[in-house]
Amino acid sequence: MPIPMDYEAVIGLEVHAQLRTATKAFCRCSTQYGAAPNTNVCPVCLGHPGALPVLNRAVVEMTLRMGLATGCQIRPRSRFARKNYFYPDLPKGYQISQYDDPICYAGALEIELEDGSTKRIGITRIHMEEDAGKSIHDMDIETLVDLNRCGVPLIEIVSEPDIRSPREAVLYVQAIRQIVMYLGICDGNMEEGSLRCDANVSVRPRGASTFGTKTEVKNLNSFRNIEKALAYEIERHIAVLERGGTIEQETRMWDAAAQRTRPMRTKEFAHDYRYFPEPDLVPVVVSAEWIERVRSELPELPLARKRRLQQQYGLPAYDAGVLVAERPIADYFERTCQHLIEPSPERFKLVSNWIMTEVLRVLGERKIGIEDFPIGAEHLAELVELQAAQTISSRIAKELFADMLVQPSSPKALVAERGMVQVSDTALIEQLVERALSENPDTIAKWRSGKTNVLGFLVGQVMKYSDGKANPALVRQLLLERLGSPDAVPR
Ligand code: ADP
Ligand code: MG
Ligand code: ZN
Repeated sequence: MPIPMDYEAVIGLEVHAQLRTATKAFCRCSTQYGAAPNTNVCPVCLGHPGALPVLNRAVVEMTLRMGLATGCQIRPRSRFARKNYFYPDLPKGYQISQYDDPICYAGALEIELEDGSTKRIGITRIHMEEDAGKSIHDMDIETLVDLNRCGVPLIEIVSEPDIRSPREAVLYVQAIRQIVMYLGICDGNMEEGSLRCDANVSVRPRGASTFGTKTEVKNLNSFRNIEKALAYEIERHIAVLERGGTIEQETRMWDAAAQRTRPMRTKEFAHDYRYFPEPDLVPVVVSAEWIERVRSELPELPLARKRRLQQQYGLPAYDAGVLVAERPIADYFERTCQHLIEPSPERFKLVSNWIMTEVLRVLGERKIGIEDFPIGAEHLAELVELQAAQTISSRIAKELFADMLVQPSSPKALVAERGMVQVSDTALIEQLVERALSENPDTIAKWRSGKTNVLGFLVGQVMKYSDGKANPALVRQLLLERLGSPDAVPR
């Protein structure tokens, strides 16, 4: 039997991100998502004869942000081109794009792999273009066309074929998504199509120096679909090659229902887009001052911020990763830490725990952003300090948190008002311990016979008698003293 060949996948991605401009790329129509069909349109984006496009400066500004954030070179002078094809949702018969001389080129993105190491993925180019409309295929009876999206600005980010697995592809797109959101240039909403991806993939014998023939899977709109479509294609390529066949260069689509890719068009029908320079738009000129201004305004990017949170606050990598996933969450974490009167790694970790569990849970349930979260950073910091100083038990802290969600208030004030201060009075707790033992006389015998789980039960009883105010660590300690070690008791 022949030894099966060891294959390696080669992947390059083209990611389209819809820019968050208020108006379209070349006209003043609104870009608002979800408007009634064919209401955000005008002669320019409908391609009426004689209508002239004018470039929206915000498109260039946002593209520069992405280019500089990914270490790209910026072309001081670039041009638009017409990409010609016929489709019902493209009334002009061409798409305004960039071809030979994209505004950004030769950059790179660092992604973090699952083992914590980093990998550099080259960015070939980032160019500006306009979106097409949307065809809605209505149960095969008729096709409806909504042209609201015509002329909405996009950037296309083309990677080098540096990606080696479906997982890496997902990490790369996740990194892109985080960055565009950090830069405020795209809302990252994949369900609404604000971020979508064409995946190019080939396989080759591991260690080979040339690439195999690639196929391109179009329009993947979720991380899951990216991963599955690539895994499927890689297996398909390998199976074809193992059978002695050859891969045909073609465009395919992911059929999520059937969990497989299908051919869309082969080379035979390959598009000849007949690109030519767009005669209605002047070249895009970007001054050195403009570039430097945008560069100076770039925020700290997610991966750098993650590393800093680990360093500066002593957070585990996992926590830092969760917190930086969204810039406003990381801001909230840092604001809360700044409000701590006695900052310490222990308290930073408590802040992180609150945010990762309770805060994110509430945001998810209420479908709101942190800007609408009722507990301000100052109050969360107070809560953490009360807890860290053991003034309140974690049970009381949870109660306070729930109350603060309903009515914004200072947890310190609430504690004082309601006399919720944790009881660490040994004499008082000893009384409660005695009560627990006398009301549950069989527990001592159980404990002596080695049934150590009665301890938890007794702690619970004492906590109940104290309305949750007893210091649980002290309760445990006093109970243990009173019960003695079960091992010390002769059987
Ligand atoms: P095309 O001319 O077919 O559009 P490009 O050279 O523009 O191809 O590359 C498009 C994308 O495909 C890029 O992201 C690139 O990294 C990727 N790519 C190119 N060749 C291969 C290959 N052999 N295997 C996998 N990906 C590739
Ligand atoms: Mg291409
Ligand atoms: Zn318009």
